[in-house]
Amino acid sequence: MIKTWELDPEFKYEIMKESGGEHLTACFQCSTCTLGCPLTEIIPTYNPRKIIQMSLLGMRNEVLTNPDLWVCLICQTCTARCPQDVRIADLLGAIRRIAEREEEAGKLKIESVRPSFDKAFMHQIQKYGRLYDMGLAMEYYREKEGSFFKGMMTMSKDYKKFGMRLFKKGKMGVKSMFPVKVKDREVMKKIFEHMEAEKG
Ligand code: SF4
Ligand code: SF4
Repeated sequence: MIKTWELDPEFKYEIMKESGGEHLTACFQCSTCTLGCPLTEIIPTYNPRKIIQMSLLGMRNEVLTNPDLWVCLICQTCTARCPQDVRIADLLGAIRRIAEREEEAGKLKIESVRPSFDKAFMHQIQKYGRLYDMGLAMEYYREKEGSFFKGMMTMSKDYKKFGMRLFKKGKMGVKSMFPVKVKDREVMKKIFEHMEAEKG
């Protein structure tokens, strides 16, 4: 049930101020995004159109604490198909940034491991200019568990479960233990400096 007195009419403008959120009000709820989203095959309840509708209605708290915010694979299928150029994947990213800021301010708790994963992923790109799988895993588990030791314990348990599958598919091996750096890491440095400056 929607509690009208709890709606925040400013929420849509808050999202539209974020990079990627600018086209939110262009959505006319056709559902093309949800119908073409590959994730709905795995998570039948996942519905990006609904997240947009809730945002437009001002259901700030419900949107920012919605675990579905964090499952998008950023495949951009919805963005390519949207007749209104809403750029859904970027829009979801804009909402996620608001949720992260709210969590930093102690106003809500994000029930997802995605922020830790995203942070570790970006850190690897910043350091090496490309993804270093083992570094990503180590950083992610450390962040997720709150300490290096606990992180390594969980990581070794998980690797026991699926490590052999990764190995057989050539995703894990001696080579993947070491980072491969891009030659011109100055370019990466500049990109990240630019991103920091954009955040303000
Ligand atoms: S495809 Fe575009 S216009 Fe249609 S519901 Fe999704 S975001 Fe809205
Ligand atoms: S970008 Fe996200 S919401 Fe859009 S189709 Fe891909 S997984 Fe679904």
